Amino acid sequence: MEHYYQPDIECMSREDMINLQNERFVNQVRHVYKNVPYYRELMNKKGVAPEDVSSIEDLTKLPFLTKEDLRNAYPYGLLAVPIEDAVRIQSTSGTTGKRVVAFYTQHDVDLWEDCNARAIAAAGGGKNDVVQVAYGYGLFTGGPGLNGGSHKIGSLTLPMSSGFTDRQLQFMCDLGATILCCTPSYAEFLAETIEESGLKDRIKLKAGIFGAEAWSDEMRVRLEKKLGIRAYNIYGLTEITGPGVSFECSEQTGMHINEDHFIAETIDPETGDVLPLGEKGEIVFTCITKQAFPLLRYRTRDICVLSRDECSCGRTLVKMSRLMGRSDDMLIIRGVNVFPSQIETVLLGYGLSANYQLIVDRVNHSDTLEVRVELTPDMFSDTVRAVEGRERELRDKIKNVLGIAAKVTLVAPKSITRSEGKAVRVIDNRRI
Ligand code: ADP
Ligand code: ZN
Repeated sequence: MEHYYQPDIECMSREDMINLQNERFVNQVRHVYKNVPYYRELMNKKGVAPEDVSSIEDLTKLPFLTKEDLRNAYPYGLLAVPIEDAVRIQSTSGTTGKRVVAFYTQHDVDLWEDCNARAIAAAGGGKNDVVQVAYGYGLFTGGPGLNGGSHKIGSLTLPMSSGFTDRQLQFMCDLGATILCCTPSYAEFLAETIEESGLKDRIKLKAGIFGAEAWSDEMRVRLEKKLGIRAYNIYGLTEITGPGVSFECSEQTGMHINEDHFIAETIDPETGDVLPLGEKGEIVFTCITKQAFPLLRYRTRDICVLSRDECSCGRTLVKMSRLMGRSDDMLIIRGVNVFPSQIETVLLGYGLSANYQLIVDRVNHSDTLEVRVELTPDMFSDTVRAVEGRERELRDKIKNVLGIAAKVTLVAPKSITRSEGKAVRVIDNRRI
């Protein structure tokens, strides 16, 4: 098979998908109730038994799980199979505090790799491709997830892991990599280095599969232009499986969720009420096929919108929008909710690079926000007065978007540390 595209599932009628989900969901609830005392207790507390669940309509009867639960139950409290049946451990990056661990049986690893194979196929990948995986390997799910997907497809897989940028680019050129998988911030760094070292003509990339952190449409446009590729978004989290929970198709207007494995809901993060399609909320996942770590109604804290609008690719899988931020990323500055991605959009719209940092502090009992962003090499030769003018312009634009004032400091090119994995965009000194 040239492509790992699975139209029998990815383009299934809604009715067939619901039937499939019903059956898997009901079995999964029984499996979890029987084998995970921690969740059984949560269900008992809510007064719901496995017999009360006969279809996905009953999803809302179940209690939520949160990261707090994962920390409480650490390390083995949510493992639903005997240790002898589990074959793999992965761990979150710890972006927002203590790491949590997740477990996989061989069946779970296979389905995870299938999901990633679908993602690579949707980005145009096939047997003839050379897939450079520049996500970190090891406990982080990025590397192993895309690596497994690339193998399933039969692409030639280059397991580079992140970092070692010179070697990364040497192999990209020498081996003719056609698909690059990494975080968008690392892709930006690679693109910048390619430009500087005059390697653009030696690059054969046609697609990028970028995820694991928030990025904007403006960033997509930049990366596509700089690398001469189409850039696809991919989403996932360790708790649910890793990358491949959802992936973008040729339409590039949101990510199809692998609904035969993961049921998605969006909820109001304050009340927990389920929201209708099209309304922005926290995305919650229920794993209906995983054996070892089958989280039910897991609150991701990631904010997005779900849509069932017809997609030109023919897939019927529900789509989630780009993340509007993770609720943990949200900064509250003088009572106003601020997502770094809102600021990124302004900066890129102004022709600046995505090399920026937000520094939050508290001075005289009041929050302050400073946006530090690198000038482009062109702008760097401007006069001091011109730079100050730009800072004022940017300050006004940011105020328009956020509704609060921020100090803007334009700094020299290359003065902000580059990321090889997930970028550190926020330095919140209020927490120290
Ligand atoms: P951590 O939560 O410690 O970062 P993970 O490495 O499992 O652990 O990362 C999962 C999180 O990364 C998701 O919950 C989400 O916030 C973020 N993420 C993953 N993919 C994307 C994406 N395509 N766009 C925005 N954010 C993403
Ligand atoms: Zn599509």
